Amino acid sequence: MEHREVVVIGAGPAGAVAAALLKRQGHDVLMLERQQFPRFSIGESLLAHCLEFVEEAGMLPAVQAAGFQVKNGAAFACGDRYTYFDFRDKFTPGPGTTFQVQRAHFDKVLADDAARQGVEVRYLQEVTAADFGGDGPLLDVRGADGASYQVKARFVLDASGYGRVLARLLDLERPSSMPPRKAIFTHIEDRIDDPGFDREKILISVHPEQRGIWYWLIPFSNGRCSFGVVGGENLFGGPGEDLMATLRAMADAAPNLKRILKNAVWDTPANTIGGYSASVQRLHGPGYALLGNAAEFLDPVFSSGVTIALRSSKLAADALHRQLTGAQVDWQAEFADPLMVGVETFRAYVQGWYSGEFQDVVFYEHAQPEIRRMISSILAGYAWDPTNPFVASPQRRLRTLSELCRGAEAQPASA
Ligand code: FAD
Repeated sequence: MEHREVVVIGAGPAGAVAAALLKRQGHDVLMLERQQFPRFSIGESLLAHCLEFVEEAGMLPAVQAAGFQVKNGAAFACGDRYTYFDFRDKFTPGPGTTFQVQRAHFDKVLADDAARQGVEVRYLQEVTAADFGGDGPLLDVRGADGASYQVKARFVLDASGYGRVLARLLDLERPSSMPPRKAIFTHIEDRIDDPGFDREKILISVHPEQRGIWYWLIPFSNGRCSFGVVGGENLFGGPGEDLMATLRAMADAAPNLKRILKNAVWDTPANTIGGYSASVQRLHGPGYALLGNAAEFLDPVFSSGVTIALRSSKLAADALHRQLTGAQVDWQAEFADPLMVGVETFRAYVQGWYSGEFQDVVFYEHAQPEIRRMISSILAGYAWDPTNPFVASPQRRLRTLSELCRGAEAQPASA
């Protein structure tokens, strides 16, 4: 049996960053990944805050050298209305730009960099069983040749994303607070010639008649875009449905997208993903902690997934380093509670998006610049900044602001 100090399950962003942070502190780290990289993943628009963790993990030069599309904000459209938030104009200090990335490439850059820093990365290795009952975590791993072996670790970080390895094996699953939704998506050669289109921002468009349906358009640096639509679980994507036909019909239903994408070449089969919102009863236990999507995933609308994942990696790596060097660690106080501050902030704005309240705020044209800077901070990923009133009490602030916006919009023009 193999003995290791830390085993990380999954080599996505959460796993690679946690592994590198621990390696940089001098720990022995083995990262086991079920697939061969590069592999496709959804989740292509990053937030500015997540680059702070990429940098701390020593990976920023590699990411900067990879040639990804620079992103400096988020634009929103609904019918004739268009607005944007520039991440460089925000309340919380920190990076104001980030990247829009093909995840197959981005995730490989991070995993390769973790390996460069000394993490042992093994591909085509699937963790199939976990035992936390004995004198230390014991994992069963199925290797590329189909043969299984066991690894004993002092600690396991589960960064298996939608694989949800420990949530499944340890029966930690808990229903998400989010109703089930579904996305259909593809990559296109966009051929966008609209002078008003800003390639340095994700464009979120709202369906002109149904506010619960929205679209993402994420430009890459190679003349291509990721394009997708999100709606209720039963709205589209039924068995046998022509996903590409549905996606294109949905695009045509939004006049701004129909115009922007008029020359697009739809050269890649559409795909669908549903039931992606997930939660767990607890984020840690004796000998393990859950990172990124292996723990909780809310909703794609604010591109918060990778940022929450990397924040969880940073918190876990710090706590684990202390534990491995002899300190008594309170994982709830040092890892779970601080992580959930930002998760709950995003949850409030995601719920506000679908209730329509946050859409009112986003599209309100006369908001005070300072308020817009506070919202810009959250959209840039700074959802853990307690000095931002929209982080400190998100529901209350959002409700008050949305009432103000609705009231102001209802006033006659002369008022
Ligand atoms: P992942 O990136 O999923 O990595 C997990 C890895 O674990 C995988 O490589 C997998 O192969 C491996 N694994 C799984 N099981 C095992 C096993 N048994 N043994 C070994 N390895 C295993 N986020 C954003 O930040 N921006 C966006 O624009 C965005 N858009 C999204 C759109 C949609 C429709 C959805 C559903 C999500 C979106 N997300 C977005 C969320 C984003 O996809 C995730 O939050 C992010 O990928 C989580 O990273 P991770 O490292 O936790 O997991």
